[in-house]
Amino acid sequence: MTFGDAPAPPPTDTVRLRLANPEAYVDLRGPTTCALITDAEKRAIHDRLGPDPLRDGDDPDRAWRRISKSRTTVAALLMDQKVVAGVGNVYRAEILFRHGIDPYRAGKDLTQGEWDAIWADLVLLMREGVRLNRIDTVRPEHTPEAMGRPPRVDDHGGEVYVYRRARMACHVCGTDVRTADLAARNLFWCPGCQTR
Ligand SMILES: [Zn+2]
Repeated sequence: MTFGDAPAPPPTDTVRLRLANPEAYVDLRGPTTCALITDAEKRAIHDRLGPDPLRDGDDPDRAWRRISKSRTTVAALLMDQKVVAGVGNVYRAEILFRHGIDPYRAGKDLTQGEWDAIWADLVLLMREGVRLNRIDTVRPEHTPEAMGRPPRVDDHGGEVYVYRRARMACHVCGTDVRTADLAARNLFWCPGCQTR
């Protein structure tokens, strides 16, 4: 992020590390680990993480082997770093919406086709998020411009379907978006669209 002549804003309390030089800064939030470690320690951390959609060559089948045997909800599995790494709360809510999947479905009830489609979508969305430094998850037909609606106002920026939209009307079906606590984080979903 470039800030030119203006001073960098003070980091918010979720920032774990800031890298800065006179021209620019970047903040790291919510990392798995934030410490100075050796290469061997780094490998050990990677070894206990699931595949990461942002890492080239990571194998979604490693995650599928755990998901397909699990009675845990798919919403909780997506937040479990041992199953799949790096997804986070915004992408878990949005990816389940985009695939019409009920967040309370058990992992073992997902089909491999559904998982492969979720993975492919996570790869696209998360790389786009890194490239643009914001999280956009709405399809072209659901942007503010396409729908003639006002853009979202939120400190996370980006256009989303359900994340932090509790009790607001779903952009697709008009049903009120719901929220609940799941895996220690707020889950958001549309009961009208997410029935699979
Ligand atoms: Zn809906």
